[in-house]
Amino acid sequence: MSKLFGTSGIRGLFGSEVTLELATKVGLSIGHAGSKRVVVARDTRPSGIALEYALAAGAIAAGAEVISAGVVPTPTLGHATRKFDCIGAMITASHNPPEYNGIKIFEKGTEACVRRERDVERHVLSGMDRLKWNEMGSQVSYDSAVHDHIESVLRRIDRAKIEKKRPKVLVDAGNGAASTISPFALRMAGCQVIGVNCEPSGSFARGLEPNAENLKEFSKLVRACGADMGVAHDGDGDRAVVLDEKGQMLGLDVQLALMCEHELEWKNGTIVTTVEASLAVRQAIERHGGKVAIVPVGSRRVSERIARTKGAVFGGEPCGEYVYPKAGLLADGILAGLKFANLFCEKGKLSSLRSTVKSYPIMRGKYRCKKKEATMRKVAMDMSRLKGRVNTADGIRIDFENSWVLVRPSGTEPVIRLTCEAHEQKECKELYSKVESIIKRACG
Ligand code: MG
Repeated sequence: MSKLFGTSGIRGLFGSEVTLELATKVGLSIGHAGSKRVVVARDTRPSGIALEYALAAGAIAAGAEVISAGVVPTPTLGHATRKFDCIGAMITASHNPPEYNGIKIFEKGTEACVRRERDVERHVLSGMDRLKWNEMGSQVSYDSAVHDHIESVLRRIDRAKIEKKRPKVLVDAGNGAASTISPFALRMAGCQVIGVNCEPSGSFARGLEPNAENLKEFSKLVRACGADMGVAHDGDGDRAVVLDEKGQMLGLDVQLALMCEHELEWKNGTIVTTVEASLAVRQAIERHGGKVAIVPVGSRRVSERIARTKGAVFGGEPCGEYVYPKAGLLADGILAGLKFANLFCEKGKLSSLRSTVKSYPIMRGKYRCKKKEATMRKVAMDMSRLKGRVNTADGIRIDFENSWVLVRPSGTEPVIRLTCEAHEQKECKELYSKVESIIKRACG
């Protein structure tokens, strides 16, 4: 188990877990790696600028050329590492509260592999290098990062259809990194765009996770403005959550199912999703002639599987992170927003489209828990009494005749997550509360 890296890189409280010293050490480590070029970028968290400079200082001291992209979404940074054929570091804690921050490493257009993270970790834990005055690197700005990312995603949609219909789209970037690109990308694609919370100011008007509670106000605005749809992002713009013209969230599973169908229409093949994906998603893929590949949670796992699966056309997680392999092997919330605008222009009202997806009652929850590993051991023991097919690829998933349940420790937060789905509401509730009480007991 990695000491520093979770499922989404390094993440923790700024100042105690994620410090300037740590950022500098990571910079020193990746500055030594590969091409000796490092792209750095950050989301809009107030602690981001100091961490970015600290990391850049480390990389420069290691002799690297630092390419600074400034405040941009994670997928924009990812694309930049492909353009410059190098390593990159994104300073972000995605959807976590503003007091958190973190570092996510990319390499040549995709999230860095575990081996690279281990190398960095070893280097960080073994201490600082002695620096030589005459071997310093340099720094340049990369001002066209946003422009380049927009150009690349516009190639992946049917602009003629969007330009013809000119849909009215509201975008809520939560004042996060997507503020710098999502409204512009949609406008350039031909949408009429109204930006909400699109100031990359570092003061957050809503929680950075695009969930129902945080999007209450946005939902009202979508309805009040008579928009065709709404798109909301998390803090670093690798996720997109979509609302219909009534201001209702499509639902994470429904929107994933719709996107799977959409991508299969473009080209048939395999779709990669995770152990958290619902029956609706799996059935949608199979109904449209696609094959399903299931991986553990995390966009890196999705991307890795896509890379080694011939004929993989799309990968998506229920949280709203979608990977479009033709655009790049990374989760891209900006392209996802454009794709939904595209979908609307092709198929019409999203509220009607939602009803075409057969979905079952699904319940999700999270429980605060500091000692995740010990708790999971207790949970596993208690859950073994439930009679079903057990899968431990990621957490514990048990499949029954008409239902399934998944308990897994979050890779980014001190919480245990519970997901449960069943054909009937009653069955879903019963299974949920049974497993919920197991978790609560184990958490003490
Ligand atoms: Mg994110």
